[in-house]
Amino acid sequence: MEAAVTAIRVALPVPLRQHFDYLLPPELEVSIGCRVRVPFGKRELVGIVWQLAVKPDVSEQQLKPVLAVIDQTPVLPALLRQLLSFAADYYHHPLGEVLTAALPALLREGRPLADYLPRAYRLTDSGKAANLQSFSRSAKQAELWQALTTQALDEATVKSHYSGSALKQLLAKELVESFQTEIAPYHYQGLAEPALQLTADQALAVTAVNQAQGSFRPFLLEGVTGSGKTEVYLQLIPSLLELGQQILVLLPEIGLTPQTLERFSKRFRAPVLVWHSNLSDGERLNCWLQAASGSAAVVIGTRSALFLPFRKLGLIIIDEEHDLSLKQQDGFRYHARDLAIKRAALERCPILLGSATPSLESLYNCQQGRFTKLTLTARASGQAMPQLELVDLKQQVLQYGLAAQSIQQMQQQLKLGKQVMLFLNRRGFAPALSCQDCGWLTECQRCSAFTTYHKHSRQLVCHHCGATRAVPRQCGGCGSTRLAPVGQGTEQLEEHLSVLFPEVPVTRLDRDSTRRKGAFASLLAEIQQPGPRLILGTQMLAKGHHFPFVTLVVIVDVDGALYSADFRAPEQLGQLLTQVAGRAGRGHDKGKVLLQTQHPEHALLQDIMLNGYAAFARSALLERQQTLLPPCQYMALFRAEAHQSELCQQWLQQVASYCQQQPQVQQLGPLLSPLERRAGKYRWQLHLYAAQRPLLHQLLSQVLAEVSQWPLSRKIKWQLDVDALDLS
Ligand code: ADP
Ligand code: ZN
Ligand code: ZN
Repeated sequence: MEAAVTAIRVALPVPLRQHFDYLLPPELEVSIGCRVRVPFGKRELVGIVWQLAVKPDVSEQQLKPVLAVIDQTPVLPALLRQLLSFAADYYHHPLGEVLTAALPALLREGRPLADYLPRAYRLTDSGKAANLQSFSRSAKQAELWQALTTQALDEATVKSHYSGSALKQLLAKELVESFQTEIAPYHYQGLAEPALQLTADQALAVTAVNQAQGSFRPFLLEGVTGSGKTEVYLQLIPSLLELGQQILVLLPEIGLTPQTLERFSKRFRAPVLVWHSNLSDGERLNCWLQAASGSAAVVIGTRSALFLPFRKLGLIIIDEEHDLSLKQQDGFRYHARDLAIKRAALERCPILLGSATPSLESLYNCQQGRFTKLTLTARASGQAMPQLELVDLKQQVLQYGLAAQSIQQMQQQLKLGKQVMLFLNRRGFAPALSCQDCGWLTECQRCSAFTTYHKHSRQLVCHHCGATRAVPRQCGGCGSTRLAPVGQGTEQLEEHLSVLFPEVPVTRLDRDSTRRKGAFASLLAEIQQPGPRLILGTQMLAKGHHFPFVTLVVIVDVDGALYSADFRAPEQLGQLLTQVAGRAGRGHDKGKVLLQTQHPEHALLQDIMLNGYAAFARSALLERQQTLLPPCQYMALFRAEAHQSELCQQWLQQVASYCQQQPQVQQLGPLLSPLERRAGKYRWQLHLYAAQRPLLHQLLSQVLAEVSQWPLSRKIKWQLDVDALDLS
C-alpha cells in the first residue's frame, strides 16, 4: 500500500471549470473555509480550502504544495460555502467566479484579517504617569491626553474629535499606543422613533411573518405603491433585534432610493449598514466583518449582499422583487431573489418578497403553494389609487409628442400649483438623425442599432456599446447637409416643455442628468419642494421614490414595447406602467395618469387599465401556462458571440444536436438575437425548455462537459444563462 498523500481541494478565483488540488505539506495545518496561498502557473493565488483529504484529480507527482495557510479560523462559514456550491451548480458556473462575486476584494489579497480590525488608542505607562503640565505648550495634545486618561478611544472618535498631529506626537513620544479591538455584537437599544399604528392588512402580514421566525418560509407581500409595505418591513425587525438576530434587506438599486434607506436607519437604535457597488474595498470589508461579528444589526444592500457572512440571520426582505436588476446580467448570472431564497432555506429563516407588481415567477410560486401570499389592498394613507385614462393619439395633431388633451390637463394641474410627471423611456435628444433628402439614418458601425443624438454633448452615442462620435455634417448616403433628428428623447422633450410652459421649472431624471456625483440627490431635493414643476424622466422614475406633489402622470410613449418579440415584454410593460402610475397622488391630492398611445385597443393596455396589475398578471400567467413558457417551464439559454456569424450558428447547432438526445428538453433556435450585432460581434442564441428542472440541469452538465472539448468553443465567446431574463 502506498502512503496516502494529503491533498486538499482549493477554490480559486479563476474562471475555469475544474478542480484545483494541492499537496498539504505535513508541517501545515488547515481547516475548511480558511484561505491558503498556492502556486498557480507562474503566479501565486489566494484560494479557499473547500475540501480536505481529497483523492486528487492529477497524479501525486503533478501535485504542487500549498505555500502558506493564511487563516486559523474559516473566513467562509460552512453555510456560506454550501450556498456558493449550490450557486455554482445551479448556474453551472465556475466556482472560482462565484467566489469572486461573493468575496470582498481585500479578502482575496491574503492579508490576515486582524490587519483590518479597527484600532483604538490608549495611554502607555509613561502616558499614565504624565500630568497636564507636560502639555503646557500644546492645548491639543493636552485635550487628547486628558480624554485618554478616562478611557481608550477608537480610531473613528479620535479622527473626528481630536487633532491628527497631536495624536502623531503623542504616539511618537510613546505616551500613547494603538491596539487592535474586537468587533462586538450589536446591542439593541429600542426604537429611535415611534412605529405607526398598523392597518389591519399590515398587521396580518406582520403577524404571519413573525410566526415563521426560526423556520424557513417564503412570503410574497403584494401591495400597491403607497400601501405601506416598507412599514411592514420596519415592524418585522424589532422582535428580531431583541433576539440579537440580523436582518438582510435587498434592494435592486440603492443609489436610486435614498428615502428607503433613510427610513431604516432612522427607526432603530442599532447599527444599520449599507452595501452596494460604490463602496470602497475598505468599506466592503468593514461591512463583511461587521456582518460576521454580529455588530451589524441590519444590512441594506444590493444583490451581492446576499453573500455576507451573517452571524445569525433572522430574516431576509427583498423589496421590488420583480425588478430585473436583481439579476446579474454578465459573468456569473445569478438571480439575487432566487439565491436569497436558498440562503433563507439554509439559514432556516423566513424571507419576505415585496412588490406592487410581483414577478410572474413569484405569483406562480404562490399558486403552487410554495410561497405564502400576503396582500395589502389599499393605500395606507387612505388615498385613492390614481385614475388611469388612455389618450388615443390616432388622427391627432401632436405638439412635441403631446396630445392637446394632455397639454390642457398639465396646464390645469400646474395652475393649481401641482407637479406633473412625464415618463419617456428614451434618453438623449433623438433616437437617430435622418437625412431629409434620402432617408439615411445614423447607425452604430459596430451594432445593429441606431445611434442616439445627444444635443447637449454634440455627440452620437450608441446605447448598446457606448461608442460615441461627433455629429456628422453630411449624410453618409447622399452627402446632403440636411440632417434632422427623428423621434424624441428626454433631452428634446425637456427643451420643448420649457417652450410650452416657460414659467415652470423642469427637472429631468435620466442617466445623463444624474451622472455627476451628487446630481441625483440634488434633483430629488428639487422635487421635494412644493410648487408647480414638471418632472421628466426615464424608468428611473418608476423606482420607489416618493413624489409628494405629483398629481398628474403623463406616459408619453410606450408603443414601441407593445409589439415586442420577447415573451416577457408584456409583464415588464405592465410592471413599468403600474409603477410609474403609482407615483401619482401620493401626497394629499388624488392623482391621475394619462397614457398616450396609438393603440388604445391593445389587449394589454385594456387589461391593465380596466383590471389593474393583479388581474393582468393572472391572465399573463395563464398564457405562459398554455404556451409552456417560464415560470411554468424551466429554461436556460446558450449565447454565442463572434465576429463571424456562421461560427456562432455552427457552435449552437452543435449544442442543439447534442441536446437532442434528451427529447424531453425542447429547443428553440439557434437564432439570431434580437440585437443581431453588438460591438462588432454577431450574436446568436439557443433556448432550452423543460417541464422538469432536474432533467434540464442534468443535460446542461453533460453538454458543458462536451463543449470544453470542442475546438470551436475557443473561437467564439459563449455563455450559459440559467433562467435568463434578458433575451435581447
Ligand atoms: P410602500 O412601501 O408600499 O410604497 P410605504 O410603507 O412607503 O408604502 O407607505 C406609504 C406611506 O404611507 C408612507 O408615507 C407611510 O409613512 C404611510 N403609512 C404606511 N403605513 C401606515 C399606517 N399604518 N398608518 C399611517 N400611515 C402609514
Ligand atoms: Zn442623404
Ligand atoms: Zn454600438
